[in-house]
Amino acid sequence: MSAVKASIERTVDGRHHVVIPSMINTHYHMVQSLTRAVPSVQNAELFSWLQGLYPIWTGLTPDMVHVSTQIAMDESLLSGCTTTSNHLYIYPNGVRLDDSITATQIIGMRFVATRGGMSVGQSQGGLPPDRVVESEDFILKDTQRLIETWHNPTHGAMTQVAVAPCSPFTVSQDLMRESAKLACHYQTRMHTHLTENDHNLAYTQEKFNCTPTQYVQDLGWFGSDVWHAHCVRLDDEGISLFAATRTSIAH
Ligand SMILES: [Zn+2]
Repeated sequence: MSAVKASIERTVDGRHHVVIPSMINTHYHMVQSLTRAVPSVQNAELFSWLQGLYPIWTGLTPDMVHVSTQIAMDESLLSGCTTTSNHLYIYPNGVRLDDSITATQIIGMRFVATRGGMSVGQSQGGLPPDRVVESEDFILKDTQRLIETWHNPTHGAMTQVAVAPCSPFTVSQDLMRESAKLACHYQTRMHTHLTENDHNLAYTQEKFNCTPTQYVQDLGWFGSDVWHAHCVRLDDEGISLFAATRTSIAH
């Protein structure tokens, strides 16, 4: 039996340190690294904060998405995170999720690109201005294109794509259902925002006459391939259902 020879490139003195596995960021909007300290909304509640920032985000360009991905990834790597998601849900001025994916490939970080989307604007009772929403047909077609172009299903792959309509207050139930079918067909993961605060809870109750848990249950958004962002206002029934279906939360 021959001895295995390892060449040592660098020795690190690890006394008084702890070695841990690298971290994974399961919910991130990288474009927001460009609009972090806007004084007028800095301390606003979620819905007012979004309404203050939507007009700024309508000016996003492909270059800005590229640069924001690199900023966010540089910061992540420096803090010990080696795998990250990016939930991009606003696509003005020719922006595509590809702008974020290609920026990632330059850096070499493991990436789960989530194709968000908003389809219900203010005129339909949603939160975002009409000029930043997309047609549901296009969102689904573009999501399919992204999966076929970039998604690598292998465990530990460097690039994966997930299906991720933005939230109950920005998309329709139809889009949620069709997105779930698409994810099921391609066996990709599914991601969205759920019960982020009390306003979010009240909107779901008023608009859909149900709790957030019932909302996602009706739409087929439970299971081990699904992870929801936030979930800070789940009731006991909701928590039990998440546990029973092995649905994940980015909390
Ligand atoms: Zn979010």
